[in-house]
Amino acid sequence: MFDGTMMGFPLSIGHLLERGRAIFPDSEVVSRGPDKRTRSQTYEQTYARSEKLARALGRLGVRPGDRIATLSWNHAQHLECYLGIPAMGAVVHTLNIRLPPSELAYITNHAEDVAVVVDRTLLPLFEKFRSELKTVKHILVVRDDGGPIEPPFLDYDALVDAETACPRAVGFTPPEGPFAATVDENQAAMICYTSGTTGNPKGVAYSHRSTILHAMVGSMRDMMGIGCDDVVLPVVPMFHAAAWGLPYMAYLNGAKLVFPGCHLDPESLLDLMVSQRVTLAAGVPTIWNGILAKLDAEPKRWDLSSVRTMIIGGSAAPASMIEGFEKRHGLVVTHAWGMTETNPLGTLARVVQKVRVRGEEAILSARASQGIPAAFVETRHVDDSGQILPWDGAKMGELEVRGPWVTRSYVSGEGTDRFTEDGWFKTGDIVTIDAEGYVRITDRSKDVIKSGGEWISSVALENALMAHPAVLEAAVFAGQHPKWGERPIAAIVWKPGQTAPESELAAHLAERFPKYWLPDHYVVIDQIPRNSTGKFLKSKLRDQYGDVLVAK
Ligand code: ADP
Repeated sequence: MFDGTMMGFPLSIGHLLERGRAIFPDSEVVSRGPDKRTRSQTYEQTYARSEKLARALGRLGVRPGDRIATLSWNHAQHLECYLGIPAMGAVVHTLNIRLPPSELAYITNHAEDVAVVVDRTLLPLFEKFRSELKTVKHILVVRDDGGPIEPPFLDYDALVDAETACPRAVGFTPPEGPFAATVDENQAAMICYTSGTTGNPKGVAYSHRSTILHAMVGSMRDMMGIGCDDVVLPVVPMFHAAAWGLPYMAYLNGAKLVFPGCHLDPESLLDLMVSQRVTLAAGVPTIWNGILAKLDAEPKRWDLSSVRTMIIGGSAAPASMIEGFEKRHGLVVTHAWGMTETNPLGTLARVVQKVRVRGEEAILSARASQGIPAAFVETRHVDDSGQILPWDGAKMGELEVRGPWVTRSYVSGEGTDRFTEDGWFKTGDIVTIDAEGYVRITDRSKDVIKSGGEWISSVALENALMAHPAVLEAAVFAGQHPKWGERPIAAIVWKPGQTAPESELAAHLAERFPKYWLPDHYVVIDQIPRNSTGKFLKSKLRDQYGDVLVAK
């Protein structure tokens, strides 16, 4: 062995803070409050506030390794928790406000959180599980509407304001604050729990190292491509999978960050994109579906010329949506795939040169796919017997991944069956992978439809149905069938004021798929049931309509 001579300098979130203060002191962090008013602070102020938060928490007895929960929308104080808590060596634990109170209590107790930072507007939710908490000693409330905070709650902003910040030397000095190179890069920085659709939620602990590597690769030009001129709007909640790492990516590069707070309706988001001259926004398809409908209805109302791209992920972005944004509004969508277990970015649908030369159809197909793996994320897919499948774009198998920001276990060692003996993580997603490495999700393994031994892709059917002009949303799920075992059933939500005969939907699908793929039955519903992270809850549809074919 002949060792390299380079320093073992830690990849730490503290460095982000130090660098932000030294190099990008004037970069802005804009938050919109519950009253819809925006307020702005600089990176220099964010540094001071994050540092004062760390001091205040230290004064309350928080020690390195302790877990601090947040129950918050996207705003500057949440960013201060994202930065200041890991930088002091403690661990920020984001609670998903859309989970039922019993699950929130379970997760907070499981992580043994010693303190909780909670938005005042979310106190009613917090009160529903506060009495069940076993380890929480301090509750810091983000007052957001200016009114006083009463004991036993502590006023987050008052605590921060009461501390004295470390003075900054005049002119450029190398990072000298308390956060410079103080933590071990393998220490946990953040804990996120999976939404637990099967069994109890399981915790994943992102390390400083995984978070920084993820931010560096994620902001590469052919990934999210974030630089200091960008204005980044994470619509994706900071309480879910680190808002896809966007706060860290933006901070690393000195980009302006814009946080939408609790107003996530299409009109409020579009207004914010215009007023802040947003260049990159990111969120789940439901959000963008609503925005596309709004833009279609009032195409001239919003000047979105500043927007360079919209990142869509979390569930499949239908090709029709990607095309609709581009053709009707000149807006570019970038599709991405990830999981809580992958920090969370895994793949992103950038079009490589080899595909580009093949023309428009190949380009759209690549852009509608889940994409190519990020650098350092390795992908493979395996059949039922664990056999590794070829990258032929046809064979479906479960996606497995490994890499420096893929978890190697869950907190407390649960869920060992999700890891292979040779060190890969089993995603539970059924995919094809083509010769260029593009991953296409055909299903979640628990939602796959097995008809007479053949697998039918519910995601492909849904995407095709959502391309029909009358369909707002569609979910395809397995119905029990006496002869075939399972057959597809389609649940349809019409666009307002529109409808179409079933035969038209069937004909629309027949142009694209073999006959045995076509749904045996259609149900029209008002809304597709969703889980806490906005994904279709097909188990609910199966419970409700799964035996209609048997009864037929
Ligand atoms: P959960 O806690 O429900 O697992 P995650 O947010 O970690 O929540 O969800 C990850 C899952 O979301 C992936 O395994 C995949 O099924 C789905 N997903 C994420 N991004 C996409 C995408 N672009 N297209 C299709 N499915 C996606």
